[in-house]
Amino acid sequence: MQKRRYFKQRIEEQEIALERVKILFNLAGQEFKKHPERSDRYAKMILNIVKKTRIKLPKNIKLFICKKCDKYLAPGLNLKVRSKQGYTIYECLNCGSKRRQGYLKEKGVKK
Ligand SMILES: [Zn+2]
Repeated sequence: MQKRRYFKQRIEEQEIALERVKILFNLAGQEFKKHPERSDRYAKMILNIVKKTRIKLPKNIKLFICKKCDKYLAPGLNLKVRSKQGYTIYECLNCGSKRRQGYLKEKGVKK
């Protein structure tokens, strides 16, 4: 019984965390043009929430936070997005790290 209750609580916790992440992500997007440093802080807060609660970041958020430098990425500003034969390359212009996303399933590309 107790285990089950714990499990339920955990799911609720994760749902709340995900809501928070979405709010922070929206704020980061809004603030970026005026206060990019705030957006970076929001990005860090998002990553902290993810670490604490072990939620999975939705793809549309994951793509816009650099894994290497933990910064918020705005397409056309500090994020370069290019399409190339079936996949998309996301390049962080802060640290130069590149990520490839594609519909061709590849192993060992992530990280
Ligand atoms: Zn970066």
